[in-house]
Amino acid sequence: MIVRKNTVGVKVGEVQIGGGAPIVVQSMTNTDTADVASTVQQVLELARAGSELVRITVNNEESAAAVPLIREQLDKKGCAVPLIGDFHFNGHKLLERYPACAEALGKYRINPGNVGRGSKRDPQFAQMIEFACRYDKPVRIGVNWGSLDQAVLARLLDENATRPEPEPLEAVMKEAVIASALESASKAVELGLSKNRIVISCKLSRVQDLISVYQSLSARCDYALHLGLTEAGMGSKGIVASTAALAVLLQQGIGDTIRISLTPDPADNDRTREVIVAQEILQTLGLRSFLPLVTACPGCGRTTSTYFQQLAQDIQSYLRHKMPEWKKRYRGVEEMQVAVMGCVVNGPGESKHSHIGISLPGTGEDPVAPVYEDGVKTVTLKGEHIAEEFQALVERYVESHYGSRSQPLVD
Ligand code: SF4
Repeated sequence: MIVRKNTVGVKVGEVQIGGGAPIVVQSMTNTDTADVASTVQQVLELARAGSELVRITVNNEESAAAVPLIREQLDKKGCAVPLIGDFHFNGHKLLERYPACAEALGKYRINPGNVGRGSKRDPQFAQMIEFACRYDKPVRIGVNWGSLDQAVLARLLDENATRPEPEPLEAVMKEAVIASALESASKAVELGLSKNRIVISCKLSRVQDLISVYQSLSARCDYALHLGLTEAGMGSKGIVASTAALAVLLQQGIGDTIRISLTPDPADNDRTREVIVAQEILQTLGLRSFLPLVTACPGCGRTTSTYFQQLAQDIQSYLRHKMPEWKKRYRGVEEMQVAVMGCVVNGPGESKHSHIGISLPGTGEDPVAPVYEDGVKTVTLKGEHIAEEFQALVERYVESHYGSRSQPLVD
């Protein structure tokens, strides 16, 4: 059983991070924020996919001016997902010049390494915190390995050089990441921001480094923690690296909100992939349930057509597509397990362990597909329309098993 580390809860709009709340899934747009229509569209897509917070870049006057318009359009479309402003270098100026932006955002992300160089760093950081206090907004103090505060690193390197047995450079750098986050958080508290307004992240791009930094961070503070492997990469590499890192930490009870930083495929720029991966990590670890997951076998020489693969994919897409509507009407439907198996070797057994499952005929088997519901064979499908008929059976199962549970409609 996973025992979550105690952290101080932080409210971002209606969403709570930490303090025992379910682990929050978040994502980030890659549109030009100044392009209001595109950004609204992508935020809607991310929110519909299940992103509970969405971060947007606020890097110039045009984007700061666009933020309240984006908020307004989302509200008009019934999308209340809180927006997080991602600021670097000029955040203090933008928040000052664009009070409607400061107001419309649900949280500010501050990178201590990119808040200002040299003597500007502390006063500009202080200004950002003053705005957070003034507008009553939480902040994420988000340290990134690639933009580490050089003043903190230089100080720790100097201290290390005076030790009788200096630590290796990599250890000092990891300590600098943690120190930058904790010292910045302490400064924010001194400036009047309460601990329940502060989330911390320390993102690195290598799995073992990320794990060791978060283990240390978690042992040294009780701030709510945002987890994510930065620059995880594309495709399976990005997914595997993020999953490997986050699974270890989440299993140890570390982490209150997660973001999966995947480089989108240039062919489709589908940003919702990072939301789906985040949800699947949490669901497969048993930490949260978002939608019914499909158990499917890999196929082998007994499945010489792609029919069952197609059915497995279609059913999973169908379940994801239906969830926004189902979760308003069917309490607990996200826990449902569906099996789509390629033949009768393991098909009936796996189907019996699922709420509803189908075994498609393997090569050379009778062209029939037995369906099991709650461990009992209820029907055998055959013919050209097995996929449609199975989908209808899933729909009927949902209605009969989850429809009677009283559930107030969720907005
Ligand atoms: S269930 Fe059948 S088709 Fe699927 S992997 Fe096992 S033997 Fe192959």
